[in-house]
Amino acid sequence: MRTSPTILHLDMDAFYASVEQASKPSLRGKAVVVGGLGPRGVVATASYEARVFGVHSAMPMGQARRLAPNAAYLVPRFHFYRSISEQVMELLRALSPLVEPLSLDEAFVDLEAGGVAWDERSARLAGVKLRADIRAVTGLTGSVGLAASKMLAKIASEEAKPDGLVVIEPGTERAMLGPMSVRTLPGVGPATGDHLRRAGITTVEEIAEAGEDELVRLLGKAHGHGLYAMALARDDRPVVAEREAKSVSVEDTYDVDIHDRTRVGLEVQRLAERCVRRLRGAGLSGRTIVLKVRRYDFSTLTRSETLRGPTDDPAVVREAAARLLDSVDTTGGVRLLGVGVSGLADYTQEDLFAQAAGERAVAEGPVEEHSVAPVEEPLPLAERRWPAGHDVRHAEFGHGWVQGSGLGRVTVRFETPDSEPGRVRTFRVDDPDLEAADPLPLVLRGPEGGDRVPGVGSQAVSSVPASLPKSWSGSGGGAATSRP
Ligand SMILES: [Mg+2]
Repeated sequence: MRTSPTILHLDMDAFYASVEQASKPSLRGKAVVVGGLGPRGVVATASYEARVFGVHSAMPMGQARRLAPNAAYLVPRFHFYRSISEQVMELLRALSPLVEPLSLDEAFVDLEAGGVAWDERSARLAGVKLRADIRAVTGLTGSVGLAASKMLAKIASEEAKPDGLVVIEPGTERAMLGPMSVRTLPGVGPATGDHLRRAGITTVEEIAEAGEDELVRLLGKAHGHGLYAMALARDDRPVVAEREAKSVSVEDTYDVDIHDRTRVGLEVQRLAERCVRRLRGAGLSGRTIVLKVRRYDFSTLTRSETLRGPTDDPAVVREAAARLLDSVDTTGGVRLLGVGVSGLADYTQEDLFAQAAGERAVAEGPVEEHSVAPVEEPLPLAERRWPAGHDVRHAEFGHGWVQGSGLGRVTVRFETPDSEPGRVRTFRVDDPDLEAADPLPLVLRGPEGGDRVPGVGSQAVSSVPASLPKSWSGSGGGAATSRP
């Protein structure tokens, strides 16, 4: 493991909700909930103001409405979120060739590989500058964690939330991790968490005390070894630039959503085996196991885990897929499951014959390109006409967004990212002067050449703060709650 905190984890703060607040001046400082508004909808992101009421992501929308009846409830604008995500990822790729996106608003960056940081001071400076650049380019805030490993960098960014930066100094990892919940560690979902608790293990320190043999006895070989190493803060998983990685993957869409967790688990095992058959058929092996889950509301998650070396062992892929599933909430049902292996090696070491077969198979193209970035799909047509929160243009009143619709009427608030909070007007849903519009950019290039960041004010955008945040102080306090 490296000795300097040069692995960076970026996590944008309440990303979807923050984009909506930046777009809509009347929602700044207010409770905003973005998600599926249909009968089976779930919360995708809640603004920090909504989290105060107990609303969090993956919560059924009905429950959110009971907790925060006065919040603004908006349908996601995924295309727009993706375009802003691309701006953020561009800034990350300027820092290093090794950028590993985990979702639209989250990624690891290997600063050392990019030559921009080599010790604590340079890493901290890079993190501070990145946060300022993200603010200048997107108008939004992101939290940064810096540590010597991926696991710790992610824990650090969680501690930094919102709008902060935390560095975990090498040498302090064990003391810091010890009192934390086992659920802090990657791969420990609700099921593994329960399993450990029944064995009297609730903190990371207790995992370390239990010893490796006991962990293996409780959780099986692969997971036991891995978790014990994590508890000792040993994590040398590399940052993998997934964009370049080819993969072999298989997926199934189900006619009827699968609700039963056991059945979901069995399907994942079956897909893992099918995926390995294709992998072997192509004479390939890979290091990164990817699980894809599309939930009943069409939100799609991908989770990945990178092994120490390439594998084409069905048991290893099955176990990794099961661990990844452990971290995904499937309450409400799933429509689609997929398992992939990426980070491919050209041939398996033990089978030289496969090398030739692999080259032939790649040339014939049975290996499908597989994007690891999450794909969210639009809502059903029925909700599409005037979805709450989406952009519209009126021939006379200009740009606005749909505040609500029903009974043949649509209510529009006319405002833009750099306007004052706007007025509301109501129209007939078939008003010919009203049409759907594209989102307006959050940051406008002013005629004077400077960037204006709506809602942030004209100052404090482009300059790096004179004093750097201290380790563990974060600049936003330790009030980290649920992600994202
Ligand atoms: Mg986030």
